[in-house]
Amino acid sequence: MALLELKNLHVALEDGTAIVKGVDLAVDTNQIHAIMGPNGSGKSTLAYALMGHPAYEITEGRIHFDGEDVTELGADERAQKGLFLAFQYPHAIPGVTVTSFLRSAINAIRKARNDGEDDPVKIPEFRKELLEAMEKLKVPRELAQRYLNDGFSGGEKKRVEILQMAMLKPRIAVLDETDSGLDIDALKIVAEGVGDLVGTETGALVITHYQRILNYVKPDFVHVFVDGRIVEEGGAELAHRLEAEGYESFGAANGRSNGSNS
Ligand code: ADP
Ligand code: MG
Repeated sequence: MALLELKNLHVALEDGTAIVKGVDLAVDTNQIHAIMGPNGSGKSTLAYALMGHPAYEITEGRIHFDGEDVTELGADERAQKGLFLAFQYPHAIPGVTVTSFLRSAINAIRKARNDGEDDPVKIPEFRKELLEAMEKLKVPRELAQRYLNDGFSGGEKKRVEILQMAMLKPRIAVLDETDSGLDIDALKIVAEGVGDLVGTETGALVITHYQRILNYVKPDFVHVFVDGRIVEEGGAELAHRLEAEGYESFGAANGRSNGSNS
């Protein structure tokens, strides 16, 4: 069994509108998967449902993580088990600095992994790791003491999402359009962050509209996602076909966005 398995997953909005219409997907350690689809196809809905966002209802199907059915678990429990989502639109948390947010998140995970007993990370150890990660990801030092995402530029928010990922060391990382709004240098840093993370303990699911990020993050598997369903699957070459042909040739409605960057 793969580390993360979605079985016939259906997701609806609070008003009952069906958005995700039967997704089967298996992401294992040592693998990078890409989900590529046009705007409005339901990619973020899928990502939110995967993380247990209460506004997105799983109406059918199951999510298995590390052999366990997590379909009914809350977002915090999924995070503690090692699922991580880098948001397309990260929320600001005024009053909570990046540093304190990260330390709380790490301590919550450590506590969960220590049978519910507090096991806080030692401050010097945490500081050292944070500074190293910030330097690697080229996150300006002053961001660490600012309130999370409060007044951050689009690019800063995305970098801080990747900083969270690097610090939390999830087992499955889901990146929802982390590439949008990033220049090439930032894109390379994000790609390195993903490359460093994925290995024998970890897999990643990169959700994107554009082929661009996949020039830096080499996916092992590409899934084309149109109108709530995976309509085609293949290797990295499929991303290039999408770039050339656009989503229309995969059944997306005309006039909707295609895979081109221009
Ligand atoms: P994508 O990420 O592929 O662009 P989304 O999952 O964001 O697609 O959106 C899919 C559809 O669901 C869109 O029509 C969008 O307007 C709708 N939708 C998603 N989330 C919400 C929400 N919280 N409230 C209302 N509509 C939503
Ligand atoms: Mg989206």
